[in-house]
Amino acid sequence: MRKIFTANNPTEAELVRGILESAGIAAEVKGTDLWGARGEVPVGPDTDPTVWVEDDSRAEEAQALLADFNRDRPTVQGAAWTCPQCGEISEPQFTECWKCGTGRPG
Ligand SMILES: [Zn+2]
Repeated sequence: MRKIFTANNPTEAELVRGILESAGIAAEVKGTDLWGARGEVPVGPDTDPTVWVEDDSRAEEAQALLADFNRDRPTVQGAAWTCPQCGEISEPQFTECWKCGTGRPG
């Protein structure tokens, strides 16, 4: 297992996993449990979801695949917002709550 990506949020982590799996590279998302604890624990690399490639020998291939993704990755602008429905915090680039799908207020 090798960590190849640190995501801004669980949605992004799943997106990356999907990119890898569609290329036939088995991958796993970790750290989404901790995401729910945000607000209770300090935010940092330890609380960000991560994507792991199961087969170390394919990590390089996976990173090459993600090079395009990283380049097109949206720049985070503005402030994170709180979902009026479930209270989860979503990153500013999202227009819907990552958890329940409620639209961003305003
Ligand atoms: Zn929500």
